[in-house]
Amino acid sequence: MARIVMKFGGTSVADLDRIRNVAQRVKREVDAGNQVAVVVSAMSGVTNQLVKYCTDLSPLHDPREYDAVVATGEQVTSGLLAIELQRLGYEARSWQGWQIPIQTNDAFGKARIDGIDGSALLASIESGAIAVVAGFQGVAPGARIATLGRGGSDTSAVALAAALKAERCDIYTDVDGVYTTDPRIVPKARKLQKISYEEMLELASVGAKVLQTRSVELAMNERVRVQVLSSFQDIPGTMVVDEDEIVEKQNVSGIAYSRDDAKITVRRVKDRPGIAAIIFGALAEANVNVDMIVQNLGADGTTDMTFTVGKADLPRAHAALGAIKEEIGYTDLLEDPDVAKISVVGVGMRSHAGIANTMFRALADKAINIQVISTSEIKVSVLIGAEYTELAVRALHTAYGLDAA
Ligand code: ASP
Ligand code: MG
Repeated sequence: MARIVMKFGGTSVADLDRIRNVAQRVKREVDAGNQVAVVVSAMSGVTNQLVKYCTDLSPLHDPREYDAVVATGEQVTSGLLAIELQRLGYEARSWQGWQIPIQTNDAFGKARIDGIDGSALLASIESGAIAVVAGFQGVAPGARIATLGRGGSDTSAVALAAALKAERCDIYTDVDGVYTTDPRIVPKARKLQKISYEEMLELASVGAKVLQTRSVELAMNERVRVQVLSSFQDIPGTMVVDEDEIVEKQNVSGIAYSRDDAKITVRRVKDRPGIAAIIFGALAEANVNVDMIVQNLGADGTTDMTFTVGKADLPRAHAALGAIKEEIGYTDLLEDPDVAKISVVGVGMRSHAGIANTMFRALADKAINIQVISTSEIKVSVLIGAEYTELAVRALHTAYGLDAA
């Protein structure tokens, strides 16, 4: 007998038939003698609709009321799944974040979990009931409902698995695991049996959309064994585990892409101490996250500063940089949203030279121009024209020997 957390994403609970399918999967684990807590997302499309209601009424809405609205999608599915499990003859009940409670901070719309008191939930599970938990939500100080950011049900599930000391956290979704890259772009992409926390974290943060980044961070810190698997097929998924558990280490495990960034170039700013501090200080002040950065060598006492920000932050970045034009005296502000960030990730990079060069060579062979480069210990990212995304991903997948036979 084991205690497990099962999480089902929006497509897995998209309609009543799919909720029935989910109930069958839960039934199977319970019949096998396991104690089960289920975490559910909203039915697919529902959260988007709820977000739209808020922004249509008022683009500058109160984030606390936004959370009160968008948290409702999960409340619906938790109740529906409990009803279906009861119909099948099982004891089941729904739990909203505040009922457990899942305590969060007050960063409404993107709250962090501060703590979970799992005692009431655990007592209920141990008495033989199936717990069906609404994902994505918790309760902030002042008894206000808070949500955990888009995709946050993954984080709810991992946090719950840690609080309940569950043996496993199974994340059921519409893909059957983590692939070497997006199979829609590279049909020869391979499913990974295992991937390390570190690699999954990098992949999630550079655009692979399988798991919310924060959920991987939490799994890594709390050592929760996560499995990503399909709710529609009966096949093993991908285990996200400690690096030591992976016997055959690849130099590169995965290739991710993101079209969520925009490039900004501040042309001919003065080349003197303090300029970067002013530019990035103004952006931080405006709550704009900056990712890749390059500064060119100064020539005539001026220099160009190029960096990327989230596409959605472009208007705010524009305003923030406009406000410091006098102070730093640039000539132009160039903005380019038509860029893609391509990243190769692998723990093998720590001990192997030439990984980045393989990337540059493969892109050169396809005549793809690299605009910005950034690296971490286990990742190399490049910024290229968005129109080359597919070509670049395919070329790199082949260059690193990842194509399935
Ligand atoms: N329903 C929320 C969203 O769409 C949370 C989740 O699905 O994980 O972002
Ligand atoms: Mg999701």
